[in-house]
Amino acid sequence: MITIDNFNFSKQRALVRVDFNVPLDKQYNITDDSRIKGALPTIKKILADGGSVVLMSHLGRPLKKLKEDGTIDFKKFTLRHTVKHTSDLLGIEVKFSDDCISAEAFNLSKNLKPGEVLLLENLRFYKEEEKGDEGFAEKLSKHGDFYVNDAFGTAHRAHASTAIIAKFFPGKKCFGYLMASELENAEKVMSHAQQPFTAIMGGAKVSDKILIIENLISKADNIIIGGGMAYTFFKAQGGNIGNSLVEEDKLDLALQIIEKAKAKGCNLLLPPDSVIADKFDKDANTNTAENNNIPTGWMGLDIGSKAIAAFVEVIQKSKTILWNGPMGVFEMPKFENGTRKIAEAIATATSKGAYSLIGGGDSAAAIHQFGMADKVSYISTGGGALLEYFEGKVLPGVKAIEE
Ligand code: AMP
Repeated sequence: MITIDNFNFSKQRALVRVDFNVPLDKQYNITDDSRIKGALPTIKKILADGGSVVLMSHLGRPLKKLKEDGTIDFKKFTLRHTVKHTSDLLGIEVKFSDDCISAEAFNLSKNLKPGEVLLLENLRFYKEEEKGDEGFAEKLSKHGDFYVNDAFGTAHRAHASTAIIAKFFPGKKCFGYLMASELENAEKVMSHAQQPFTAIMGGAKVSDKILIIENLISKADNIIIGGGMAYTFFKAQGGNIGNSLVEEDKLDLALQIIEKAKAKGCNLLLPPDSVIADKFDKDANTNTAENNNIPTGWMGLDIGSKAIAAFVEVIQKSKTILWNGPMGVFEMPKFENGTRKIAEAIATATSKGAYSLIGGGDSAAAIHQFGMADKVSYISTGGGALLEYFEGKVLPGVKAIEE
């Protein structure tokens, strides 16, 4: 893998695509700075070599979330919100350019001295970014002598700054540390998994995870299904699932997955029981039920005790574990137990030498909520990108560097 460790950046201007797409509160304070922190090692290495850094990123979806009058909400989506915090974290003043391709922006990047950092304004203020426009990518490329991609979260997009731009840096392009470690950890599971390999899939919808499940059937020894998507499998087999979540148009697909797993010798585990509720509410009345016999008017919102016992047993024996998606509505205390017990089992297996990868989004949020972030092997920052990687797709941001 070509990473920034293969180069010395002395007197070089590195154009680094980072993921500063951080969550902000109503006053535009950063509520979780892990994406910025994730990019620091790459920035620091370039500065320590005696180079300078031009950072470019997106923040939100400004062209999809226009103001009521149809104009861009610059105040909300400006990357200026991240300048002070990035400066504090780096211990140097980060310069800012109000536009990513204006004459002033190029003036600022051209005059950058070794040891200095410039952040460009939100790339997605230009429609050309998400369109992967080559002319826009070429303009951006003028900001640096060298291109570094450290934005794993957008590696599955063929956008101007994440993929198209790489062609303007032949022999002078590489992965940053964050991107490299995301890829190395994903490869450990996808290409070098020690057996038994168990994939745990949860969350609301089968449709989001279907391609991953299909791809993993031929790789994993066990696939555990939990969360809202499990009920589509029970309904498909003729069970009564009450008001539980279901995707009616995926019933046939669910049956096909069950058959495919059987044919390939993959142990597909569905949860036999659930904690059920009389409404989707944190104060709902609760009970327990078998998943093929949930009473009318009730819905499964967490896996039950039999499911937990069966899943924990398999997880404890695993040597490689991939987890994506909660086992229930873990945001509500009454329905977090299943997700917590699975997280604990993963932590225990990890302490006994298993390798565990937690795939972004809700599973990462759950692991943090339970205070177990340091008890698993790796927590990925890239939700969509990681999912596409496990679907077996080539990520444009990765291909562009490797080509
Ligand atoms: P996803 O984005 O597909 O990974 O889904 C995550 C969401 O699924 C979380 O917000 C959970 O609250 C929700 N979820 C998990 N289990 C259930 C369930 N049994 N019924 C409804 N929602 C669920």
